[in-house]
Amino acid sequence: MLIIKRPRGTNDLFYESAKKMSFVQNEINKIATIHGFSEIRTPIFESTELFTRGIGEETDIVSKEMFTFLDRGGRSLTLRPENTAAVVRAYLENSLQKEYAMNKLFYIGSMYRGERPQKGRYREFHQFGIECIGSSSYLADVETILLNVAILDSFNITETELVINTVGCPNCKPKYNQALRESLSSEKDNLCETCQVRYDKNILRMLDCKNPTCQEIIKKIPTFYDFVCDECREHFDGLCEELTRLGQAFTINPMLVRGLDYYTKTAFEIQSSNLGAQSAILGGGRYDKLAGMFNNGVDVPAVGSAMGIERLIFMIENEKFIEDRLDVFIIAFKETINHVMPILKRLRANNIKSDFDFDLKSIKSQFKLANKKNAKYTLIIGTDEISKNVCKIRDMDSGDEKEVSLDNIEKELKNK
Ligand SMILES: [Zn+2]
Ligand SMILES: [Zn+2]
Repeated sequence: MLIIKRPRGTNDLFYESAKKMSFVQNEINKIATIHGFSEIRTPIFESTELFTRGIGEETDIVSKEMFTFLDRGGRSLTLRPENTAAVVRAYLENSLQKEYAMNKLFYIGSMYRGERPQKGRYREFHQFGIECIGSSSYLADVETILLNVAILDSFNITETELVINTVGCPNCKPKYNQALRESLSSEKDNLCETCQVRYDKNILRMLDCKNPTCQEIIKKIPTFYDFVCDECREHFDGLCEELTRLGQAFTINPMLVRGLDYYTKTAFEIQSSNLGAQSAILGGGRYDKLAGMFNNGVDVPAVGSAMGIERLIFMIENEKFIEDRLDVFIIAFKETINHVMPILKRLRANNIKSDFDFDLKSIKSQFKLANKKNAKYTLIIGTDEISKNVCKIRDMDSGDEKEVSLDNIEKELKNK
């Protein structure tokens, strides 16, 4: 019995699963680059304070789910549970505003949350995220949305719906909060316990309460759009108009909000009905007030999004993953083994994917392995063949065989 096993909620990726993961990551990388985005890599762990400030002390992530530990010097560190705060920290620390007025960044990497593991949720998981930092233009919001859409399109994930909303800014949020409080005051006693606390402390967070009674009550509230200031309205109208011009379908959902103060203006989700119940594949929005939390109140306008890669892989049709075949498998005998490695070296130098069984079991088992590795061709090197300076090339799909001079193997295979 195995004495040490992998920690709960983690995965080992190998063969198929590892190939899928790198296929998806390469594809995302390619499409993000086409859209003019550059990759950013930040540490797996950061000072705990980065997340308590940057995600919010009262969120489930910070209050219940972080992997936090003390290093040998007694400093509190945390494995990143998400990456926006870290990217903003890196932007500020490396003065990226000196590189470009607008930094279009993306990341792909593992994140860590001590959730109760359940199907499709892991303690170590991967996220793809976009962070456009430095511009307050609604076109940055459009860019962020379009890149996400392009990525989903490239994986043929089309049964999706873009849902957007505006959540205002520090000028207009208080007015909306006040209106919410007034419209809910008569119902306060009917709200769930959590929402009764939220009613006083952070009423916006009520809007995504899952409690059925709360949801019924929330249906009757006034919408944010009726309370936003001119600047927020212009931003939202600009976004909607541009999406319409581009033929990008969307719906406005006034319930789509984000509770923390540093979220501003745009909030969006891309939802899919393919995940069972309608649920979000990715979410994002503006966070113009986040940088200020690390930077003595000096704000930097920014917009971003994040999507879970495990869920994405789950949604991609298997056919979409490139069929990855071995070009050549070499079959040899004890007497001819010395010829194998020099031939392999030549094939590989010509970018021909090739392999062999170095334990040289029976011919039958070598063919079996060639099949398992899905080889297109086998190269059979027997003593007869060697004496004539040839080898046999067998097409594994048709079964056709052909003798080829040992000097011409690469040429022959490249022609196929
Ligand atoms: Zn506003
Ligand atoms: Zn509630």
